Amino acid sequence: MPQDSFLARLAAIVGSKQVLTQPQDTAPYFTDWRRHYRAAAECVVRPTSAAEVSAVVRLCVREGVALVPQGGNTGLCGGSVPTGAKREIVLSLARMNRIRELDALNDTLTAEAGCVLAEIQRAADDAGRLFPLSLGAEGSCMIGGNLSTNAGGVNVLRYGNARAQVLGLEVVLPDGSIWNGLRGLRKDNTGYDLKQLFIGAEGTLGVITAAVLKLYPKPSAVATAWIAVASPARAVELMARLRARLGDRLSAFELVSRACLDAVLAHAPGSPDPFAARHSWYVLADLADSGEPAALQSLAEQALLECAENGTLEDVALAHSEAQARALWKIRDTIPEAQFRNVKHDVSVPVSRVPELIERASAALEAEFPGVRIYAFGHIGDGNVHFNVGMGDAAATEDLIGRRGAVNRVVYGVIDALGGSISAEHGLGQLKREEIRRHKDPLELALMRRLKDALDPLGLMNPGKLL
Ligand code: FAD
Ligand code: ZN
Repeated sequence: MPQDSFLARLAAIVGSKQVLTQPQDTAPYFTDWRRHYRAAAECVVRPTSAAEVSAVVRLCVREGVALVPQGGNTGLCGGSVPTGAKREIVLSLARMNRIRELDALNDTLTAEAGCVLAEIQRAADDAGRLFPLSLGAEGSCMIGGNLSTNAGGVNVLRYGNARAQVLGLEVVLPDGSIWNGLRGLRKDNTGYDLKQLFIGAEGTLGVITAAVLKLYPKPSAVATAWIAVASPARAVELMARLRARLGDRLSAFELVSRACLDAVLAHAPGSPDPFAARHSWYVLADLADSGEPAALQSLAEQALLECAENGTLEDVALAHSEAQARALWKIRDTIPEAQFRNVKHDVSVPVSRVPELIERASAALEAEFPGVRIYAFGHIGDGNVHFNVGMGDAAATEDLIGRRGAVNRVVYGVIDALGGSISAEHGLGQLKREEIRRHKDPLELALMRRLKDALDPLGLMNPGKLL
C-alpha cells in the first residue's frame, strides 16, 4: 500500500495488523447478528486506547470518511454494520477490553468499551458485588454497545436499564477530542447531564471508550419460579401482588407464551416442559435478597401459595437448586433462536396495558393475516414485549416476512393507540430509522437533529442510523 494512503495512515496509528482488509477477516464485522444487513466498508480498525481512537477519528475527519463504531455486533437493528452508502470504516472497540479500576467502597467499576458484559459481571462478582445488567447476549455483547443502545434485559424491573448504571463516561467526540467524564459521583448537579446524551445514541454522537459503572450488593439468596397463568392480565396482576408482598426482591418477571415454549421444545429437544399439563401463558420470576436462602425461599413459597389460593396463578414450580434455576432460565434464553425467522417487534406500553396490547394486536393480525402464529415473550415487568409474528409453516412465514411492512403497520397502530413505543430496548439503527418518523413527535425528532448537527456537523458518526 502506498505510504500516504488512507490505510497506511490508519496502520501508522494502530499497527498494520489491526487494520483488516481481507474479506475472510472483515466478513464478521460487515454482517449483523440477524444477517439482515451486509455491506462492506474500506476496512476494520481495532484500536487499543482512547488516544488511538482519537487519532483515527481525526484522520477520518480529514479524509471525509465515516465511522461505524462496533462492540460485540449483537445489536438487533443493523446499527453496528456499514450501510455501504458512503466511504466508511468499522471501528471495532473489541481490543479496548481492560477493567481500569474497581472501587469497592464507592461501589463502582471503570471499564473500557470493549469489555464483554459477562466479564464485567464476573469482576463485580469476584469483588462481592453485583453488576445487574443482564441479557441473552451477555457472553459476547460489550459494555460500549450496551450503553450505546441503552440495553434493557431481565433486571430492569429492579435496577433500571443501562442508562441507570452509569456515573461517568469517556467519549471520543466527532472532531477527535477526548472528553474525560469518568467521574464516580452519585451527586453532581453542575449543569446538563452530558453523559446521558451519548447513552442510547447508537454511536451517532461519538465513540464511548470507557465508563464508570454502578455496582450493587451481591444478593446472598436467589429464588427462581416458573409459574403458569391463565392470561397476560393474570400475569400483570400476579406481579402487582408479588411486589406488594415482596417489594424490591422481585428482580425479573418475564412472560413466556405457550407458542414460545413449544418453539423451544422443538428447537432444543431435551429441554424440559416444567409442568405435565399445558398452560397458555407462563411467567419466569427471579427474587433476590440478602440473608439466608431458606428465608427467601420460604417468603417466596408463602406469597406464591397465596396467589395460587386466590386464583392469580394456575401452577408454580420453585427451583430447588442452582441447576434447576439455570434450566428454567435456559428455556427463556433459548426463545430468540428458537423462532429466528419471523416478523419481530420490540414494543412497550404502560405495564397495565400489556394485556390489551397482546389481545388487540393478536386479533388485528388474525383478521388481516389469517392463521398467524404469535410469539409473545419478554420483559412484561417493564411493559416490554417481544411480539413476533410468523405462520404455521416456513414457506408461509417467508411470505409474511415479505409483507413485513404491513404486519408492522398493524402492530404499531395498536402501540400508538396505547401510548407505547415501537422500540423498547433494541434501538432504531437502520431497521426503524424511517419507521420512527411515523410515531415520534416531529418536534422531538427536530431536537434530535439539532443535537446531531451541533455535535457531528460533518455527519461522519454512524451515518444512516437512528436519524
Ligand atoms: P453492537 O451490536 O456492536 O452495537 C450496537 C450499537 O451501538 C451500534 O449502533 C453501534 O454503532 C453502537 N456502538 C457499539 N459500541 C459503541 C461504542 N463504544 N461507542 C459508540 N457506539 C457504539 N438487547 C436488550 O436491550 N435487551 C435484551 O434482553 C437483549 N437480548 C438479546 C438477546 C440476544 C440473543 C441477542 C443476539 C441480542 C439481544 N439484545 C438485547 C440486543 C443486543 O445484545 C444489545 O443491543 C447490546 O447492548 C448490543 O451490544 P453490542 O456490544 O453487541 O453492540
Ligand atoms: Zn429483550
